[in-house]
Amino acid sequence: MGAENAVTQPLGIITNIQRFSLHDGPGVRSTVFFKGCPLRCLWCHNPETYTFQPALSQDALRCTACGGCVAACPQGALKLTEYGLQYNVSLCIRCFACAGECPTGALSVLGREVTAGDVLGEVLPDKGMYERTGGGVTLSGGEAAAQPKFALALIDALHQHGIRAALDTCGYAESETFLRLCREADLILFDLKHIDNAAHKRLTGKDMTLIKRNFFLLSREQIPVQVRVPVIPGLNDDDQTLSGIAELITKNPKVDSIVLLGYHPLGGAKAAGLDEERPALSVTPPSKKRLADLARTMAARTGLSCTFR
Ligand code: SF4
Ligand code: SF4
Repeated sequence: MGAENAVTQPLGIITNIQRFSLHDGPGVRSTVFFKGCPLRCLWCHNPETYTFQPALSQDALRCTACGGCVAACPQGALKLTEYGLQYNVSLCIRCFACAGECPTGALSVLGREVTAGDVLGEVLPDKGMYERTGGGVTLSGGEAAAQPKFALALIDALHQHGIRAALDTCGYAESETFLRLCREADLILFDLKHIDNAAHKRLTGKDMTLIKRNFFLLSREQIPVQVRVPVIPGLNDDDQTLSGIAELITKNPKVDSIVLLGYHPLGGAKAAGLDEERPALSVTPPSKKRLADLARTMAARTGLSCTFR
């Protein structure tokens, strides 16, 4: 680590650093997925980032039923049955002896503790690519604002090396801390998922009060924002909800663009292998035409550029 260790004090927990990312801000980027989130969006793409602790992940297709994990488990939390490996979360003490014994990668540990210097060491080799494409590093998750000391240290470390940092946030964080982080980041990608408090709570686990407050604090602080709206058919894509989101956006003059994010069922497949349960979601992804229509309407209502993916 050497020189990087000068910026390494706070530890953070992440699940992954994705290189060559094209969708988390401008240019080509590296996206750092922070582990841990205060929300529980039913459609989450990254449910492996729900909790703040390392977690056991199961990939049933890789399991050869060798029984190594069952023998290694001190808690009797694993059992081989005719339906495959059964995992009893309530008995698990997260020692991860099982993953260490698994020869096929069917069991693995999600989440690793890192310092800003560790992350810097992984993203720095791509600095030239960020510069050529106008990209950088995006702090995503999970929720980066839920690990503010680590997030600030990471942004500082990136800036010391001339790399721009974007913050992808759900906006649910203590306001003073949130603003401090947003002032340091070069770009804020702010998710707006609904407009109605009760519906927001039902779909994400929290209501919108704090999120709205933080959204307008960004306006007061003159911090530019790109709004991202997940489009989840049947849950938030009705005209009343989307026109409400559009109205909210028009009240914040610092919003410079909008991106609609069409629902993708990837998160459901991931959730099946995790040690935190969540309700199954039966939603058909929106068609490109539907997203294009909604983007046109959103642009007309707000007067802003609205794209989709
Ligand atoms: S992580 Fe849980 S399931 Fe795996 S060996 Fe430890 S107690 Fe058993
Ligand atoms: S050690 Fe791996 S491959 Fe063997 S039974 Fe356990 S999960 Fe399956």
